[in-house]
Amino acid sequence: MRTITLSNVSKTFYDKSRKLTPVLAIKDFNLHIDDGEAVVLLGPSGCGKTTLLRLIAGLEEPDSGTIFYNGVPLDDIPVENRGIGMVFQNYVLIPHWESRKTVGFFLRLRDREEEVPAHVNTVANITGVDIEKLMGRFPRNLSGGEKQRVSIARAFARDLELLLFDEPFANLDAKFRGQARVELKRLIQEFNVTLVYVTHDQVEAMSVADRIVVINAGRIIQSGSYQALHDNPDSLFVAEFLGTPTINAFWGRVQSGDWDGSYMGRASLPSPRPNGSEVIVGIRPEHIQLTDSDSGIPATIDRSIPFYAEKFRLLEVWLRKRRWRIQVPLEDEHEPGDTIHCQLDWPRAYFFDALTGQRIR
Ligand code: ATP
Repeated sequence: MRTITLSNVSKTFYDKSRKLTPVLAIKDFNLHIDDGEAVVLLGPSGCGKTTLLRLIAGLEEPDSGTIFYNGVPLDDIPVENRGIGMVFQNYVLIPHWESRKTVGFFLRLRDREEEVPAHVNTVANITGVDIEKLMGRFPRNLSGGEKQRVSIARAFARDLELLLFDEPFANLDAKFRGQARVELKRLIQEFNVTLVYVTHDQVEAMSVADRIVVINAGRIIQSGSYQALHDNPDSLFVAEFLGTPTINAFWGRVQSGDWDGSYMGRASLPSPRPNGSEVIVGIRPEHIQLTDSDSGIPATIDRSIPFYAEKFRLLEVWLRKRRWRIQVPLEDEHEPGDTIHCQLDWPRAYFFDALTGQRIR
């Protein structure tokens, strides 16, 4: 059983290379993670994901606020009783230990070395290869992907309640990565392990998470399932961060109660806004249709990119010096320079306050 609670946690670093300029990595962070929940921390580079994971692991001290495991402050729990398995981006394998010693360290301390092969087997299942052959090697003789497998084996070879993973599969071949995520999800459910997983890859987040926490500049922006965040973003940031291809965002002004983007026509707003205020419309590439009718908005094809695996074609088009993305069926072939006409599915558009980025409902 393992719940985690972060209560008003903040962390600032002092950048030595810039005269100790303060860098606010995490700001007033509140988050509760349930027992057995798989939470993915998702956000752009530098938003504070790794710092959060290190704080939860007890590798960094918060400047203020408290982290609780099962309601007990982390500081009051001896390191050996924390039951954490960690995999970080930079594997931190001990250079003069061969893999077998690294993987078996925890269990050997407890005279349970005979359990190591079962754990190695677990990791072979996750990462899709026989890692037994890596057990006699030192880190200097392992590739990046192999080091990653050894650190995953080390994370699993203990009495686990909590897994903290920071881009654990980044160095695996693409073909193993998808399988590894599915297998990881199955294992944490089977063993009821709580998982906190850091990534900046939304596909990874989608396949691992029960809940995604979107972070920017050290703060929670929104949290929920992938579908909820994708379909119901609270802000332009989330709308732009989730969804492939990326949502189109068009600037306009409120005129007589309507949104008016001069080149795109007018649309009614979900709630009244003062005349002249700036509003951004977000419309997903799949919510723009091509039409034969000249009444559609004319645009010129710049690029046509097929996505064979996902079975769609992305059209990048120019419209009055603005670039749009439109998703069409794979078989819709268009040449650069062609003129097309489009229709926007206005009921599925989102409106955002251009100053705050917050959704207008
Ligand atoms: P990435 O996806 O690139 O790994 P991240 O979201 O994990 O990024 P963090 O590594 O948590 O981001 O860093 C958050 C901020 O804190 C960044 O601005 C980073 O430069 C800064 N930072 C992190 N660790 C330190 C440190 N030890 N000293 C100074 N600044 C730091």
